[in-house]
Amino acid sequence: MQKKMPLRKCIGCQEMKNKKSLIRIVKNKEDEFFVDLTGKLNGRGAYICPTQDCLALAIKSKGLERSFKCQIPEEVYEQMKRELGQNE
Ligand SMILES: [Zn+2]
Repeated sequence: MQKKMPLRKCIGCQEMKNKKSLIRIVKNKEDEFFVDLTGKLNGRGAYICPTQDCLALAIKSKGLERSFKCQIPEEVYEQMKRELGQNE
């Protein structure tokens, strides 16, 4: 078991998980949001487990809004739903 895995907190279940097992949501300087599947986009990021459960939790608790301290456009959630759906 590796000990130096970078851990990030899921905005849904609030658990610390291996960064690689999470999906990254990025906000760039132009205040545009992206679901970053490569993990390489520049900007502020938030992380979520690739499960519908965590997405539902994140929506309910406004985890993304709290993480980015601003409103999240509806299409960002739509895109997350699509990406998560592909992983199930
Ligand atoms: Zn989670």
